[in-house]
Amino acid sequence: MYDAIVVGAGIAGAVAARKLAEEGNRKVLVLERRSHIGGNCYDAKDEYGILIHEYGPHIFHTEDEEVRAFLSRFTDWYDFGHEVVARVGDQLIPVPFNLNTLHLVYDEEKAKRLEEKLIAEYGLDSRVPIMKLRENEDPDVREIAEYVYQNVFLRYTMKQWGQTPEEISPEVTGRVPVVISYDNRYFKDKYQSVPLHGFTPMFEKMLEHENIEVWLNTDCTDVLTFVDGKIYFQNEEFTGDLIYTGALDELFDCRFGRLPYRSLDFRFEHLDRDSFQGHSVVNYTVSEDYTRITEFKYLTGQQDACGTTIVREYPFAYTGAKGEIPYYAILNEENEKLYRQYRKLTEEFSKFHLLGRLAEYKYYNIDAMAKKAMELAENLLKH
Ligand code: FAD
Ligand code: UDP
Repeated sequence: MYDAIVVGAGIAGAVAARKLAEEGNRKVLVLERRSHIGGNCYDAKDEYGILIHEYGPHIFHTEDEEVRAFLSRFTDWYDFGHEVVARVGDQLIPVPFNLNTLHLVYDEEKAKRLEEKLIAEYGLDSRVPIMKLRENEDPDVREIAEYVYQNVFLRYTMKQWGQTPEEISPEVTGRVPVVISYDNRYFKDKYQSVPLHGFTPMFEKMLEHENIEVWLNTDCTDVLTFVDGKIYFQNEEFTGDLIYTGALDELFDCRFGRLPYRSLDFRFEHLDRDSFQGHSVVNYTVSEDYTRITEFKYLTGQQDACGTTIVREYPFAYTGAKGEIPYYAILNEENEKLYRQYRKLTEEFSKFHLLGRLAEYKYYNIDAMAKKAMELAENLLKH
């Protein structure tokens, strides 16, 4: 009845499903355990009519023309240069730390001198991970590195990961390098946008195809079983492709122990005033228990909002308790070894494909995820 089953209606599952349905004329069933599509990109209006991102602020940013073009078939965009500031004492400073930030935190003469040094050392427009900058032996550069480490990274990272920047994978802090330029934008990508009418309508259009059926409120384990190298769908052997975008340990009852994740508690608040912080995202890098506050109207560009809605993010260690959501894989050798143990269990199923931030236990942005999904679908269509 179905040629392919896709577990999860996030960006990975939705892109793969559309490609298989459209380019291969495959009949695709998408199983989604939540009551909505979109995965963590899901957005909706709250009771005050303000468009919020239920699972934290999402900005689609990319350099990839192919991904941008593919998604543009399902939405127009609200393009903007996403800027983030960090609250440090009384100041709001641009993050990533850049030459504008340098001039805010040091007096004119010192800032000029340090700026010349940074440019001479790394070149204008370069991007230097904080852990690299800290290795520099020049006392002036070290001073900047120490400032950035203490005021931007240390406490935020402790909150987000429960570990110091030294203890986590350098890839993670490397996502927000020190930028030797006057560019205040958080990302350097050519395209930085949110879908003009929200992510959810974009997903609706993507999944709206005669060859795609979506079952919401359906955990795949309710309808799929895996026995002796065979996959059964509603008790009948299923021989089509199965794309799985959920957490891999869950599929095997966590038999080797849980894969560690960080989770987030999103606490929303609506305020009966025009503006709360005047910025889309303010990071709290030296104080508070939450990592950041997002004020949605500045992220989505919504003009007709009455009042304003904000969300604070409180990180915690995922335990697997009901209602908790695993958001961030914790990348280290030990966890990746455990992940590989689970992945080995999938090898006996020949048409079983792991895709997505959870299933691959990786740190993917939306664009990279969409790209991976496009490539997987294209590969499957060759057979
Ligand atoms: P998901 O979006 O998690 O989708 C997986 C889906 O599978 C979910 O809907 C889930 O319910 C479903 N599922 C799982 N198990 C089962 C099961 N057993 N049965 C049925 N369904 C199941 N990226 C950016 O590019 N820009 C950003 O600004 C950005 N901000 C982010 C902010 C936060 C707080 C977080 C956590 C991530 C952010 N990301 C951002 C990353 C982005 O969310 C991911 O790249 C993207 O959501 C990954 O898509 P996915 O389809 O792999 O996973
Ligand atoms: N980070 C930080 N301070 C900041 C911003 C980021 O310490 O103001 C660190 C933190 O460890 C974070 C990592 O850099 O987890 C990556 O940040 P990014 O914004 O890319 O994380 P995302 O929320 O997008 O996953």
